[in-house]
Amino acid sequence: MNDAGMIYVHIPFCVKKCDYCDFVSGVCEKNVQEAYFKALKEEIVKRSESAPDKRVGSVFFGGGTPSIVDAGRIKDILDLIRVRFEIEDDAEMTIEANPNSVTSDKLKVYREAGINRISIGLQSSKDDELKTLGRVHTFKEFLKTYDLVRTAGFSNVNIDIMSAVPGQTLDSYHETLKTVATLNPEHISAYSLIVEEGTPFFERYKDGAGLPDEDTERKMYHDTESILKEYGYERYEISNYARPGYECKHNMGYWTGRRYMGFGVAAASYDGSGRRTNTEDLNEYIGGNWERETIELSETDKIEEFMFLGLRMTRGISKSGFKEAFGKDIYDVYNVQIQKLKDHGLIVESGERIFLSKLGTDVANTVMAEFMF
Ligand code: SF4
Repeated sequence: MNDAGMIYVHIPFCVKKCDYCDFVSGVCEKNVQEAYFKALKEEIVKRSESAPDKRVGSVFFGGGTPSIVDAGRIKDILDLIRVRFEIEDDAEMTIEANPNSVTSDKLKVYREAGINRISIGLQSSKDDELKTLGRVHTFKEFLKTYDLVRTAGFSNVNIDIMSAVPGQTLDSYHETLKTVATLNPEHISAYSLIVEEGTPFFERYKDGAGLPDEDTERKMYHDTESILKEYGYERYEISNYARPGYECKHNMGYWTGRRYMGFGVAAASYDGSGRRTNTEDLNEYIGGNWERETIELSETDKIEEFMFLGLRMTRGISKSGFKEAFGKDIYDVYNVQIQKLKDHGLIVESGERIFLSKLGTDVANTVMAEFMF
């Protein structure tokens, strides 16, 4: 992807709000969608005028559930992006889709529009767990969607699954892992459920009762890696697994400090010096007040991010990359921390790279905290 930038487009609409979800998303009338897409186009046009470098190596439609809106709307947005930016020939173009929300016609439009990667939100192969999560689909319905996606010719597919779901056992989680791996997607994202404040789940589970205990949760994490490995998937980031060559370019871009423009409500952007966030208020966004704030990042902010984001990846950070980015040796900044974490077996230094050890991955947040100024 060389040093081209990335584009994220947020589509905040869903069929129903899931009980654990704290994303900026919700159920909306068609006329709100109409107004939203109008504002989205205006934002893309306006902001593209001042974009200093128009090259784009990946586009990602996230949400929400981008696949519930008319496919023509997605195509319109992509057509506009093509006019206003320079999309590279080998760009990764992803759309998130939920089971039941795509048809073969929709998928055909996506293909024609240039989308080449589909990310499907499954979460579990167990219907009782899907029900607990407040998902609106069954596993059988997911299978139908997966089949449609493959039949439409998509050869780069991600499936999202979730651990630490209330009522989930080690066995049922293993079954989800194996069932999904048997389907042979190119990529699997496996996140642990986080009970976020402000969601129905918070009221139900804030004291932890009903959730898998910490040991089980840890075991689920470890088993994800070992089971998926048996099926040929490599972990390349704390929660992401892929067949060789199918690591998500867009997410890798976030973890390696690439610049990106985020369009839509609540979308974030990074131009290499500052981080801009858009308003989270849908009405405000539709009214044309897109931006909430832009914060200039200091050099220390950027150094911290280089470490936090880079260490998320199994390959870790590059020492020469650090020098290139900040004009100084990593040891001039973090000598004490690197020695201490190495002595405790939490990070590994191998040639040009520094990465989390297995133990360090278990306590990743503690390791990252060591790199804060
Ligand atoms: S489908 Fe995704 S974005 Fe929509 S409510 Fe559920 S978890 Fe949130």
